[in-house]
Amino acid sequence: MNARAHLPPSAALDIPATGDAIYRRIFEFTPDALLVVDAAGRISLANAQAEKLFGYRREDLIGQPVELLVPSRYADRHVAHRTRFNAEPHCRQMGSGLELSVRRRDGSEMPVDIMLSPMDLGAARYTLCVVRDITERKAAADQLRQQTEELQRLHAALREQASRDSLTGLLNRRAFHELASQMLKTARRRKESVALFMIDLDHFKRINDRYGHAEGDLVLKRVGDTLLATARENDIVARYGGEEFVMALLGVDTPESLIAAERVRMAIAGIADTRQRITTSIGVASLPSPAEKGDTAQQLEALLAAADRALYAAKRGGRNRICHVHSLPGARSGTPAP
Ligand code: GH3
Ligand code: MG
Ligand code: MG
Repeated sequence: MNARAHLPPSAALDIPATGDAIYRRIFEFTPDALLVVDAAGRISLANAQAEKLFGYRREDLIGQPVELLVPSRYADRHVAHRTRFNAEPHCRQMGSGLELSVRRRDGSEMPVDIMLSPMDLGAARYTLCVVRDITERKAAADQLRQQTEELQRLHAALREQASRDSLTGLLNRRAFHELASQMLKTARRRKESVALFMIDLDHFKRINDRYGHAEGDLVLKRVGDTLLATARENDIVARYGGEEFVMALLGVDTPESLIAAERVRMAIAGIADTRQRITTSIGVASLPSPAEKGDTAQQLEALLAAADRALYAAKRGGRNRICHVHSLPGARSGTPAP
């Protein structure tokens, strides 16, 4: 039979049987730093881990105000917090969710969690402070946060890339549909008009044929820059495909849409640093205010189809011109024919 089975549990652990000694050892060897602070805020006791964590010898801690261990920028506030705790002491976490840090002897700071517990010893009131080093936990959390932020940045960049045309940097067709639908919703809510320009370069194929594809690309870039420079902040400017561009303008009625489209036509005609002057034909459609009911995607399709018809008329009419869908034979007044 095992001789140890007759021994009391404390002996089996080789711990002296007296209760005080056990408690002293528990205090001493707890893996957290323990400080006992008196009512005046002076450190009365510190364990081995406190010496290690703060970098002080115990005799240099005992009798010192606990603010010795608080980063100096928080020291004044700490005195006030301590006074409040003493007025209403109960076991709780310090800082209620704030990131806490302590100051070590060498001046360095360390992130910590601190639990506070009131301790009455006879008439005297003390506070037990349990200080846990959370450097590793915080570093892991910080790293995770950084990685998450980086992923979010990458995600945003990818979304941005996916919505842009790589040659001109303008929005692509898909992004245009998304944003223009939103614009129609805004127009509905604010009861504002919307105008849409379908912009097609004239005889662009000839530029490719005469000067090569690279010159054609340069022209497309210049046109993109020019459209952006001409647009107002809230206008949507996109490359709709090939040598076709599209703009959507909020709060622009029919007369204003004609003025704005003419400004675009002239700006493109004014591009000077290409081998051949470029002209453009623009089909314009506008809605006084989108109908309250109905699908905005369908309204947008109708508006695009109307602008496209107007563009075709501008081409037929001799190019280098703008044409509003309202001016087409058979057009109803007020809204573009769907
Ligand atoms: P129209 O006045 O009737 O619009 O004549 P157009 O020559 O401009 O129109 P067409 O549709 O006949 O030709 C468009 C040309 O645009 C054909 C195509 O090769 C060219 N194109 C489309 N995308 C690009 C591109 O990304 N780069 C270059 N360089 N050319 C492109
Ligand atoms: Mg063309
Ligand atoms: Mg075209």
